[in-house]
Amino acid sequence: MKTFEIAILGAGASGLFSASLLGKTNKIIIDSGIKAGRKVLASGGGLCNFSNKNMGAEYYFSQNPHFIKSALAGFKPQDFLDVLDENNISYYLRSSGQYFAKSSKDILNLLLSKIDKQSTIFALDNKIISVVKNDDIFEIKTDKNVFYAKKVICALGGPTYKKLGGTSCAFKIAQNFGHSIIPPYPALCGIIWDKKQKKIFEDLAGLTIKAKISCQNYTFTDDILFTHEGLSGPAVFKLSLYGLKNKEILINFLPMVNFKDFLLQNKNSTKTLSNIFAEIMPKHLSLVLLKDFNKTLPNATKQDLKYLEDSFCAYKLKVQNTYDYDKSEVCAGGINTKEISSKTFESRKIENLYFIGECLDITGQLGGYNLHFAWASAKAAAKAILQDL
Ligand SMILES: Cc1cc2nc3c(=O)[nH]c(=O)nc-3n(C[C@H](O)[C@H](O)[C@H](O)COP(=O)(O)OP(=O)(O)OC[C@H]3O[C@@H](n4cnc5c(N)ncnc54)[C@H](O)[C@@H]3O)c2cc1C
Repeated sequence: MKTFEIAILGAGASGLFSASLLGKTNKIIIDSGIKAGRKVLASGGGLCNFSNKNMGAEYYFSQNPHFIKSALAGFKPQDFLDVLDENNISYYLRSSGQYFAKSSKDILNLLLSKIDKQSTIFALDNKIISVVKNDDIFEIKTDKNVFYAKKVICALGGPTYKKLGGTSCAFKIAQNFGHSIIPPYPALCGIIWDKKQKKIFEDLAGLTIKAKISCQNYTFTDDILFTHEGLSGPAVFKLSLYGLKNKEILINFLPMVNFKDFLLQNKNSTKTLSNIFAEIMPKHLSLVLLKDFNKTLPNATKQDLKYLEDSFCAYKLKVQNTYDYDKSEVCAGGINTKEISSKTFESRKIENLYFIGECLDITGQLGGYNLHFAWASAKAAAKAILQDL
């Protein structure tokens, strides 16, 4: 029975990066895909938004918000840029602070090239079925093989995008070892219209505007996009991190306009309201928001003005559902980080078992934060393992 020093479960962002940092340590990387790094390739629309200049715990959501601090301190955006510079990989910075590669392939090829070939076996096309620990040795059963290792790094990601390898396997493994799971939900995704909303907004499909949207204590001002199915775009994606299902969101369709002043400026205008609003927003959106309101401003009562302000600047939308896992960039929730060491990412329940990347209850905002966490958690675990060998 061959026993590997380390088995890395998952050849995604965090698994591959950890393997690259583990040098000549004897290891096996197991993945269900025929190829490694499928989500890395798909990331950032093929340009891989691999990190962000503005980095900090405040860009992540977790039931244990301080957990991530140590990993972020141990691996900064500049550390990944240094790796890219050393290997002549081009990247660029957008005004939003997001770092992008020229191509996701460059990032994936770099990760693969940094993994020591002699000491590493790739077991691709192997779907992991179970992991158990007997007498200090982990037994990893796949649909084709059984592998043994002294240490396991579980880097199996979350259930989003099945076709790119997304599964809940990490959660099952963690639960079997006694870990608890913070209830997962799809995040960085759009909202789906209910029947009534679809009737109201369907004809706006294709329209993008800047809006301010809020839910509970969270607010974002960015583009929203009307689709046939629902509401999408970066502002909605960002808000979805905090879980929107069955919650009410507020939309200000005119975040750059002082609405009261605008009405005051037009108080004597006898133009139709849709014509007045056409100066500051797409006319078909104003018609939808006005519904049956057909008074002119000189005839509007105080109550009417309040109605207009609520419709245009504080539109209430009850979210019945968001997109499912197959259309969401990440899965929020996951393995409870209170049961994981924030320094080493080792399980506090099972010695020599490490969890890194998206499977943990740490979810980053839109903008390169999830890949950055994949790198940072991989770095922390690899460093601890190398010190321990
Ligand atoms: C379309 C899309 C675009 C994205 N773009 C960005 C972006 O630009 N920037 C950003 O920061 N984040 C982005 N993300 C999120 C980011 O890709 C993930 O958060 C990141 O890849 C997580 O890394 P990971 O190593 O934890 O998991 P993954 O990269 O998902 O790797 C997990 C691996 O485990 C394997 N696996 C799962 N179950 C099994 C099993 N039972 N047996 C064997 N193998 C298994 C999978 O095949 C996969 O290779 C995007 C996600 C998607 C879906």
